Amino acid sequence: MLNNKTAVITGSTSGIGLGIARALAQAGANIMLNGFGDNALIVRLGLELSAHDVQVRHHAADMTKPAEVTALIRDTESAFGSVDILVNNAGIQHVAPIDEFPEEKWSAIQNIILNSSFHATKAALPGMKQRGWGRIINLVSAHGLVASPFKSAYVTAKHGLVGLTKTVALETAESGITCNAICPGYVRTPLVENQIEAQAAAHNLPRDRVIREVILAAQPTKRFVEIEEVAALALYLCGDAAKSITGASIPIDGGWTAR
Ligand code: NAD
Repeated sequence: MLNNKTAVITGSTSGIGLGIARALAQAGANIMLNGFGDNALIVRLGLELSAHDVQVRHHAADMTKPAEVTALIRDTESAFGSVDILVNNAGIQHVAPIDEFPEEKWSAIQNIILNSSFHATKAALPGMKQRGWGRIINLVSAHGLVASPFKSAYVTAKHGLVGLTKTVALETAESGITCNAICPGYVRTPLVENQIEAQAAAHNLPRDRVIREVILAAQPTKRFVEIEEVAALALYLCGDAAKSITGASIPIDGGWTAR
């Protein structure tokens, strides 16, 4: 389905990004991995994904640095010939009341989630327009549609990313390019494991109670969304059947935003 296409997935050494890399590689796309991780992990992921008979590389661009984000796109174009699919996925979280929110955490979250998506999209669009085909998928969150207390930076960045998604969709609507936002509820990844640990310590509660009473309180299904479910949606958005879906923010949140 995606043979001869190349996908850049930011933050794909772990969690949802890695799940999407697996799904796109299985569908035949060459993969540029990005994100932190030691050499052994990156070698292992490269071997695993290239077993699908696709080319795989890793680029160490730091999403807080605009020049490195642009280099990620340019170096992928040089290595593989094109960037056909861009998944803006890298993200971090920090939880604190706004009057105590550390300024450097605020800036890091805006840079990694929102600003890097702008820089990567800006760099990838000319090639996509030239070829008349492209898919941009922004990994947003239910927190791009609704807020929760103590997550001001994350909620702000994710709401901003919904705005970027809509604007890019309108600007590319006649170019064979789609741009959409995937908005998951809680998915069990290292990003959420860290929050479980922090909440367990803060409330002095066992982990299973934190999961049910704190983390999944807003998620009506009371279970985590699976990485593979998010990856399957991303793969669908890359296909021809999704060519008229653009500018959409698609919840995959167990009913969270239906409330
Ligand atoms: P994760 O912590 O498992 O993965 C984050 C990835 O981003 C890692 O590969 C990490 O190395 C990379 N990364 C972090 N900072 C970076 C930087 N400065 N430069 C380059 N790479 C960097 O997290 P995840 O849960 O898989 O999150 C992926 C995306 O999904 C994020 O945007 C997150 O906000 C979003 N999301 C997650 C959930 C959830 O419940 N896990 C829910 C909704 C949305």
